Amino acid sequence: MNCCGAIGDIRLKITVIGGGVVGLCCSLHLARSGHAVTLLEQSVRRDAASWGNAGHVATEQLAPLASVATLRSAAGRLFVRGGALDLPLAGTGTWLPFVLRMIAASRPARFEKGRRALGTLLAEALPAWQRLVAAIGAPGLLSDSGHYVMWESAATAAAGRAAWAAADTGTARFAEATAEQRAELAKVTTAPIAGAICFSGTAQITDLDALAIALSDSFRAAGGTILPREAGLVLEDGWAVVPGLESDRVLVTAGVRSGPLVEAIGHRAPIVAERGYHIRGTARRWPSDLPPIVFEDRSMIVTRFADQVQAASFVEIHATDAPPDPRKWERLERHVRELGLAIDGPFTRWMGSRPTLPDYLPAIGRSRRADNLFYAFGHQHLGLTLAPITAEIIAAMVDETPERIDMAPFDLERFGGKGGKR
Ligand SMILES: Cc1cc2nc3c(=O)[nH]c(=O)nc-3n(C[C@H](O)[C@H](O)[C@H](O)COP(=O)(O)OP(=O)(O)OC[C@H]3O[C@@H](n4cnc5c(N)ncnc54)[C@H](O)[C@@H]3O)c2cc1C
Repeated sequence: MNCCGAIGDIRLKITVIGGGVVGLCCSLHLARSGHAVTLLEQSVRRDAASWGNAGHVATEQLAPLASVATLRSAAGRLFVRGGALDLPLAGTGTWLPFVLRMIAASRPARFEKGRRALGTLLAEALPAWQRLVAAIGAPGLLSDSGHYVMWESAATAAAGRAAWAAADTGTARFAEATAEQRAELAKVTTAPIAGAICFSGTAQITDLDALAIALSDSFRAAGGTILPREAGLVLEDGWAVVPGLESDRVLVTAGVRSGPLVEAIGHRAPIVAERGYHIRGTARRWPSDLPPIVFEDRSMIVTRFADQVQAASFVEIHATDAPPDPRKWERLERHVRELGLAIDGPFTRWMGSRPTLPDYLPAIGRSRRADNLFYAFGHQHLGLTLAPITAEIIAAMVDETPERIDMAPFDLERFGGKGGKR
């Protein structure tokens, strides 16, 4: 697959719904393939998950979270017990059906299939990022200097190392942090470094705001149009229609809000918001070249973006529009204090929704209910990582060129639907 091929003759009018990182990457790729692309984005605030995540190109995370291991450890990871997982009482109607479906998807045979499927995408994720930043002339947006994982006690370090040693990390590798690397870590935390490993083959986006601007600018330069509008979707005579816009093809990339859109076409998409939180302070005392650090005992990842440092954590399964829970920001601030991190306040606060399906696999494909409809959503904890490879796959599907990755596991039909299909 080529990234962002030459601009040719305009072929199809394509409407893309949702301008997060997945929608922008897809729109850019389609526009540079010669299509007339209109991207509809409902928010002008750039507040989606795509622009507040941890910036980590997480090629090591092959294991879908729908697993026996995740279910077994859930009770010990609950927010009320100091952990990062929250299933709020007020959100029971959201998380209970999701958890039941997740349990079904966690059976070892399904987990194993999911791991293999995710592995094929993740193996291509970093090369696709490298092609994308080269194509848009912004190589500095990607830093492929890996990341650290550290632990604060000997017991958690031993358990954590053993878990990583037993895990399939795909194309990513890790080694014990060297004395020099531990000295780098000691510059930004006063916490005891009981153990630390350093990954290679993973990467970081250096500035999410700059990424959004670079992708939007490149898309417009390729002839694309961005309209600040909330889109709907209806089915008319087997054709997906965005009211008010003439479209040969429609692509849904609306993150957690994709569910109702594709359900209007007859699909089922049991997607939930796994809400995460971050705080950001100034990076005056944080080395500019230090890769992201995962403080695994606290399920927290700390990333430098331009002149700010961000601490992010939490999986809170709740209605997308429910008010944020300030205790999570307070907990992050406490982690920063207790770890003596070299981040200076005052802190800004953010909450955003990971779009997650119960088997923790994205939905990427062509609809079998409306021939002109394509979809790419549900990228859970890996949407930033997988956005460029998703864009390459979607562009190949639209152009009906042969797929070199088996996309059957990502077909939305795995959840069924109502009415007929092709
Ligand atoms: C705290 C946190 C940390 C994370 N860290 C990482 C990480 O390090 N690495 C990684 O790979 N992933 C990470 N993720 C996950 C990642 O952020 C998401 O998977 C990814 O952003 C999903 O991108 P998206 O474009 O599908 O959805 P979104 O970012 O949600 O974008 C969807 C867009 O569609 C728009 N939209 C919705 N409905 C409509 C409509 N009807 N009409 C018009 N526009 C519409 C929305 O306004 C939004 O802008 C993290 C997430 C969180 C919350």
